[in-house]
Amino acid sequence: MSRRVVILGGGESGAGAAALAKAKGFDTFVSDFSAIPPKYKQMLDDRRIVWEEGKHTEELILNADEVIKSPGIPDKAPIIVKLKERNIPIISEIEFAGRYTASKMICITGSNGKTTTTMLIYHILKKAGMDVGLAGNIGNSLALQVAESPHAFYVIELSSFQLDNMYDFKADIAILLNITPDHLDRYNYEMQNYVNAKFRIIQNQTEADAFIFWNDDPVISREIAKRSPKATLHPFSAEDKSGLKGYTKNKKVIIETSNGTFTMEEDLLALTGTHNLYNSLAAGITAKILDIQDEKIRESLSDFAGVEHRLEKVLRIRGVDYINDSKATNVNSCWYALQSMNTKIILILGGTDKGNDYSEIDELVKKKVRALIFLGVDNNKLHDFFDGKVSQIEDARSMEEAVSKAYKLAEKGDTVLLSPCCASFDLFKNYEDRGEQFKACVRNL
Ligand code: ADP
Repeated sequence: MSRRVVILGGGESGAGAAALAKAKGFDTFVSDFSAIPPKYKQMLDDRRIVWEEGKHTEELILNADEVIKSPGIPDKAPIIVKLKERNIPIISEIEFAGRYTASKMICITGSNGKTTTTMLIYHILKKAGMDVGLAGNIGNSLALQVAESPHAFYVIELSSFQLDNMYDFKADIAILLNITPDHLDRYNYEMQNYVNAKFRIIQNQTEADAFIFWNDDPVISREIAKRSPKATLHPFSAEDKSGLKGYTKNKKVIIETSNGTFTMEEDLLALTGTHNLYNSLAAGITAKILDIQDEKIRESLSDFAGVEHRLEKVLRIRGVDYINDSKATNVNSCWYALQSMNTKIILILGGTDKGNDYSEIDELVKKKVRALIFLGVDNNKLHDFFDGKVSQIEDARSMEEAVSKAYKLAEKGDTVLLSPCCASFDLFKNYEDRGEQFKACVRNL
């Protein structure tokens, strides 16, 4: 009897993992408690993979030798509890795929900036003519690519949920951008659990591997002191201090690795704002470690088009800029958005709160925000925190209402910023839907 691999969740990562498991000759079964999107059903059927949806049939799951779990399924889901009671190993799709490839893995994690940095690195490697695939939270699943269209290099965005179930996988280049509280609902409201998940990005690394991280993050610094990573350290910072591999000096970006020194005018970076300088530094160090030509790195860092829903400029109407930062689903990313603005702001925020502490943006709100618009089903927590701190506060129950209130409150020269600090599931399908609705409402003004 061949070993039985059960995949929980029939989305991008689950369907990909199933394709790889089937290709490797496992007795493969996919179970999804919700509906499986048609695209993935087709993928499974084409490969003669057995699946079920709308339920988890225990007899077909608890007999697994190993389970590959979608990162979206929390540990407290009853089926996971039962698997754990039986000591059936549970891994992530990336862990599974990693067993069947010797390609170079460039992995990016952090509380904020993952997608931007991942896309930027992918852009640089592509432009340098390398054989590279995009995987993890974006692009096609790693498992499907490993099974059916392998690449020499993979740039992989890793969430803490994916890292949670990774054990033997190794990143050749690991990037940790920052760690601030996020998703604490999935970590028993214990910050250290979340920190430990993030630090799985460096597990199994050796001296021959690189660990790139933001030097000024207090949590990262504390953990590095505690853990003494084996990988070669590549810290970066916006300031010029000794020991850094990436920094700025006299308005120049400087990167120093064993492959030499790279320099470039900071003004030429495509992405603006301090947070994006960090992302560019992380990407630049990666490129230099891979020994990509300086000219190519410079070109790619200056012509990158940016990523939708991340500080995306929508329109200027009557002297007011409208900016879509719908992807800011936690307080820290909103902080960076506020910090990068040079005008008065009408801030639209709210949604599903994941245990937020708004004191982080308190000062910037008092200094820069003309009006707050709370966009959510339950705005009580926001009122409790902000009432009395900003003179104008409004509630909105739809994007249309929020944008029309913002339009009325904004004065010439202001910025209307959607940077919600929260997940979007109370009023929207997801953050993309929230951002699309914002853009549509702005265009209708
Ligand atoms: P992620 O994939 O980690 O959610 P994104 O690249 O999608 O990150 O960016 C989400 C938001 O986080 C952006 O809109 C921006 O406001 C903020 N952000 C981006 N990069 C950083 C960074 N390095 N540090 C802090 N905040 C950032």
